[in-house]
Amino acid sequence: MKKVLVLEDEASIRSFIVINLRRGGYDVIEAESGEEALERLKEHPDTKVALLDIMLPGIDGFEVCRRIRATNSRIGIIMLTARSQEMDKVTGLMTGADDYVTKPFSPAELTARVDALFRRAGGEPVVHSGEISQPPFLLNTRNRTLEKNGVRIKLTQVEYSIMRYFMENPGKALSREEILDTVWGRDYFGELKIVDVNIRRLRLKIEDNVQNPVYITTVWGYGYKWGF
Ligand code: CA
Repeated sequence: MKKVLVLEDEASIRSFIVINLRRGGYDVIEAESGEEALERLKEHPDTKVALLDIMLPGIDGFEVCRRIRATNSRIGIIMLTARSQEMDKVTGLMTGADDYVTKPFSPAELTARVDALFRRAGGEPVVHSGEISQPPFLLNTRNRTLEKNGVRIKLTQVEYSIMRYFMENPGKALSREEILDTVWGRDYFGELKIVDVNIRRLRLKIEDNVQNPVYITTVWGYGYKWGF
């Protein structure tokens, strides 16, 4: 079943989302508070994608995101942000979200975002299985895991996809557009900024010194390069 959780306290917005996702073939689980969302996820551990509103009574969407991520790195998380709250996007991504959708959004946009995350969270068929070893890093493409010096680094699905793209292209400058197309898909119509925010978060996890990254270096005005 294509299971998606929708957390939104405003009933009209929630039903708009639910109707459209059901039309798109999803099995939708609803929650109107963060606490309820966490409960429902416990009941439905096979949920692949969660849509989280930020402004909620009780714990907010960022906190829900943080708590989900504490135990689940595979689920895809999309934050529902209000227009003009630019900081929300960054904060949401830094707490572990994969994407955000700005209200008001069209049904087509929403479904496209959920589809894109669902494909990744569902685990596309692995064409090349095995390992990519670039000490101190070891990427296991079968388990979709990353180790640094033998220690497992917890990655979201998006972070994993970025790492894999980097490690398959060592020493090559990759443009932000190329990273966006490869990781998010060509039909994704989000902003390039999402690449930068995810790289920032990835650096926090893999670099020894985030102020002076040596594994993922910035190619000014272009993109990023993996190599050391
Ligand atoms: Ca709300």
